Amino acid sequence: MNVLLTGGAGFVGSHLAEALLARGHRVTALDDLSTGSMTNVAHLAGRPDFTLVVDTVTNETVMADLIDRADVVFHLAAAVGVKLIVEAPVRTIETNVHGTETVLRHASRKGILTVIFSTSEVYGKSTAVPFVEGADLVMGPTVKHRWAYACSKAIDEFLALAYHRERKLPVIVVRLFNTVGPRQTGRYGMVIPTFVRQALAGDPITVFGDGRQQRSFTYVGDVVDGLLRLMAEPRAVGEVFNIGNPEEISIGDLAQRVRTLTGSASEIVLIPYDQAYEAGFEDMPRRVPSLEKIHGLVGYRPTVRLDEILERVIAHERAAVPVAHRP
Ligand code: UDP
Repeated sequence: MNVLLTGGAGFVGSHLAEALLARGHRVTALDDLSTGSMTNVAHLAGRPDFTLVVDTVTNETVMADLIDRADVVFHLAAAVGVKLIVEAPVRTIETNVHGTETVLRHASRKGILTVIFSTSEVYGKSTAVPFVEGADLVMGPTVKHRWAYACSKAIDEFLALAYHRERKLPVIVVRLFNTVGPRQTGRYGMVIPTFVRQALAGDPITVFGDGRQQRSFTYVGDVVDGLLRLMAEPRAVGEVFNIGNPEEISIGDLAQRVRTLTGSASEIVLIPYDQAYEAGFEDMPRRVPSLEKIHGLVGYRPTVRLDEILERVIAHERAAVPVAHRP
C-alpha cells in the first residue's frame, strides 16, 4: 500500500515509517520539520519506496495531491510536548485543529483509512486508574494553557468521529501514553531524553514539582506494533484506543534510575512547577492506560519494560555524546 505519514520525520513517525517499509509498503512522509528532523529519516533517504515531502499539513494543494496517491493516512503531525504548548499556545491550537481538519476533509473525498493520533492528555485531571477510553474527560480552565493541548486533541477526536458517522470515513483514533525511545528529543521538555542527556553531561537532573507524580512509559516499538495491528483490523474503524504500557514509576524514582543506569554523578534537583512551566501549572499525579480494549480486539501487549527502554535511550544518546563529555 501507499501510506502517507503526516509528521513522518518526527520521533514516532520515523519509527512507524521503518516498520511499514519493512512490511513492503511504500511510505510518503510529510513534515514541516518544526519538531521533526531530517536526521530522523536520514537512513531512509534514497530508498525508492520512501519519499520525504517538506511542507505543512495545512497546505491544501500538497495535501490534496498526497492523499490522491495514498491508500492509508496516519496523521501524526501536531504541536507536541507540554513545554511547547505552554510557550506557543496559538501555534498549538491552530496546528492541531486546522491540520486535522485539513487531513480529514481531503481523506473523506477518497474514503481512505485515516488514523488520527491523540494523547492521554485528553483524560486531563481525571483521577481514574486506569484510564478507560469511554470514561469522562476532566479539563482544567481555559486560562491555563496546558489544557489547550488536551482540548485541541479532543476536538480532533470529535471531528474524526464526526467524519466517520456523517461521511462514512473509516477512521481510527489512538491515544498514546508517554511514548519514548531513541530519537525522541528533549528539546520540547520530554522527561526521559532530558534526564538521560542531563545525566550523561553531568548536569543537574531537573525533577519538576515534588517528583511524586507517576507516569507509565511505552516503548515506541510497542506503539508501532499496536498501530500495525489496528490498521489491519476492520473492526477498529470508528473506535478510540489507548496505546500504552501500564508499568508506573514516579518521576523522582525515574531520575534515580537514570542516574544509576548511566553511572552519572549528577545531582537531582527539585524545580517548582511555576518555574518549570508557568504560574499555576497543573500536573497529573498519575496516568495509567487501560489496555483491555486494544488487547481484546487485536491482542496488543507492550513487551519492553522500563529498564530496557532506558538502556536503549541511554545507548542512543551515548552514541551522540562526544567521549570527552561522558561521565
Ligand atoms: N518532568 C520533569 N523534568 C523535566 C521534564 C519533565 O520532572 O525536565 C516531569 C513533568 O513535569 C511530568 C513528567 O515529567 O510530570 C512527564 O513529562 P513529559 O513532558 O515527558 O510528559 P507529560 O506527561 O507531561 O505529557
